Amino acid sequence: MNIILLGPPGAGKGTQARMLVEKRGMVQLSTGDMLRAARTSGTEMGKRVAEVMDRGELVTDDIVIGLIGEALDDAAASGGVIFDGFPRTLAQADALGALLSDKGLALDAVIELRVDDDTLVERITGRFTCGNCGEVYHDRTKPTRVEGQCDVCGSTDLRRRADDNEESLRQRLMEYYKKTSPLIGYYHAKGALNVIDGLAPVADVEASIAAVLDA
Ligand code: ADP
Ligand code: AMP
Repeated sequence: MNIILLGPPGAGKGTQARMLVEKRGMVQLSTGDMLRAARTSGTEMGKRVAEVMDRGELVTDDIVIGLIGEALDDAAASGGVIFDGFPRTLAQADALGALLSDKGLALDAVIELRVDDDTLVERITGRFTCGNCGEVYHDRTKPTRVEGQCDVCGSTDLRRRADDNEESLRQRLMEYYKKTSPLIGYYHAKGALNVIDGLAPVADVEASIAAVLDA
């Protein structure tokens, strides 16, 4: 199955994608992770997008469509692809449709995680991740068992994202409502949209997603 996890920053896309990877052998394609990796490795493209990302704006469609196009070839051979943070514009959605049909692949479901803005601010400002294995934590709702140490891999490289601050988040939310939320109507019209309550506890959201995938 190939699915899109759609929702604003902090909706829980990455958290749910990691569980789908572990339990269903799917592959997570996160354009945010790809762009952060390009920054860390210091590629020309990484340098070009760094400021845009820190401001909370979207990088250009060409860049992210190129990244997904490259990653899709390998991912397509897996148990399914989870698009996380892509598409984020109507142009990206059209490009994804074309890429999938070129490769003879289908889009099986679009899952929108719906969460209110106040909760998003609380989630984003408390988020940190393991720099080694990528496990996602939260200061209040999901702290590490041992302070300063990842529960999964034991690494002490716990990081906060440069754009996980209130100012950048305000811009990211604006971008979401202006450019990404029209995708809700786009996929609804295609009969692919499934709306899930993203405010529920992680395990309940996981069960709701499983119900869609197993339907
Ligand atoms: P996204 O990938 O959509 O930006 P994340 O999966 O990184 O969101 O989640 C953002 C923050 O919210 C993280 O700190 C995560 O631990 C927390 N979180 C995710 N899902 C839930 C949930 N259902 N209930 C409470 N906190 C959650
Ligand atoms: P994320 O990790 O999904 O929260 O993305 C972090 C940042 O990367 C965003 O605020 C954008 O600057 C950039 N980004 C990630 N995915 C996309 C995309 N599909 N289109 C444009 N910009 C993106």
